[in-house]
Amino acid sequence: MYLDVSRGFVSQETAFPFDAVVELPPQEVCGETVTFDPVRLVGKYTVYEDAVVLEGELETVAHGACSVCMEPAQAKIEVTFSERFRKDANEEEDDCFLYEGKKLPLEHMTLTLVLLNTPMRFDCGTGCTPAVELKPWNEAEKVWAEDGEETQDTYRPFEGLKDLLGNEPSEQ
Ligand SMILES: [Zn+2]
Repeated sequence: MYLDVSRGFVSQETAFPFDAVVELPPQEVCGETVTFDPVRLVGKYTVYEDAVVLEGELETVAHGACSVCMEPAQAKIEVTFSERFRKDANEEEDDCFLYEGKKLPLEHMTLTLVLLNTPMRFDCGTGCTPAVELKPWNEAEKVWAEDGEETQDTYRPFEGLKDLLGNEPSEQ
């Protein structure tokens, strides 16, 4: 997606409104695949002598897996931005994006802003429980307790000791 800013070159230092939709490919975030709805960008651009400034807001919805139950979950992403594009930008080192001619490539900027604001963990919002439920440790049996079983009922610290003493060979 390229934004044509040629009008700005006719009237430099004048802000022109723009809106654009950028489609992002699925991304790997912390080992999970996250997909995004088309990103809507609305704002204004201004062409200066040595740079083009793009200001506005973007919004999308990120879709991932709930970090607790692994069911589909989503997170709304809204970012207010003010970014500079330069023809001689080094995107690795400078704090601005590269463009050529009279068009701004929006995908790299959009992807950068969206990923910076994508949550590390998704929450399906249902107050869900873990897919693999942690069961209380049953000390006496040395096993994880079964559902509905209370560890307090089965944890008898002296029972094992009594068995040990009872198994002592009789001296008589
Ligand atoms: Zn969940």
